[in-house]
Amino acid sequence: MNRMFLRTLALTSTTVVAGVSLAACGSDSSSDDNMLAAIEAGEVTVGTKFDQPGLGLRNPDGTMSGLDVDVAEYILNYIAEDNGWDEPSIDWRETPSAQRETLIQNGEVDLIAATYSINASRAESVNFGGPYLLTHQALLVAEDEAEITGLEGLDGKILCSVTGSTPAQKVKEALPSVQLQEFDTYSSCVEALRQGNIDAMTTDATILLGYSAQAPGQFKVLEMEQDGEPFTNEYYGIGLTKDDTEGTDAVNAALTELHESGEFDVLVDKNLGGDEAVSPGTPGDLSFLE
Ligand code: GLU
Repeated sequence: MNRMFLRTLALTSTTVVAGVSLAACGSDSSSDDNMLAAIEAGEVTVGTKFDQPGLGLRNPDGTMSGLDVDVAEYILNYIAEDNGWDEPSIDWRETPSAQRETLIQNGEVDLIAATYSINASRAESVNFGGPYLLTHQALLVAEDEAEITGLEGLDGKILCSVTGSTPAQKVKEALPSVQLQEFDTYSSCVEALRQGNIDAMTTDATILLGYSAQAPGQFKVLEMEQDGEPFTNEYYGIGLTKDDTEGTDAVNAALTELHESGEFDVLVDKNLGGDEAVSPGTPGDLSFLE
């Protein structure tokens, strides 16, 4: 399987930019809107995906697995230990792409780790820790697909993606003529592809490689490029309540340690199969948004 273009972003610097918080301390300590208070209280609700193998998956026995699941657990346990609190119990909550900002704003989840790309419009309504990983938008097609070879071959084809996702938005902008079907979840797109009802699906390479690995011989993952560059950069972040500076700094400290300890590479190997090229980056550095 070609994993060449799946690039993880290593978190090399310990620099965390401390923001100025006017209202963070001593205000509302209810677990509804403050991740740190929820960790201290011992019960945290974490939003993730339930249908994305290798990233966020609810197994038939009810257990959770995937890189985002492991990263969220690492963050929570690191923060608990750092503060002398017990490891919290986690209530996993499914957070489909289009609902993530709303579920954070409503206080229904304390944090989100769900293949959640950091972008400027989302950052208006939520805070992001990270980035902890960089991947790129790609295509999943049937193994014997001959006409679609990348972005160019999509004209007139039926393409599937998920409502409220950055790949759906980007492909609409770049190819207004493409027939885009938007579902709530990527597993619905995979099913439609399997049935032959669509020609291709598009989202992050990480996600597509996970589906492809689950069904050997059925699908292939194709790179998308524009002018020799990856079509998009998807920097994954941890979603938090808007203006929760203290919580965001704590997440970034945990992510820095996750990288420096070598544990991040272990988790990538375990969940995504391992031979990805790693490029440098800094938690708390959102300069790519500029
Ligand atoms: N990372 C992209 C996004 O946040 C696509 C994956 C997803 O929909 O979760 O929109």
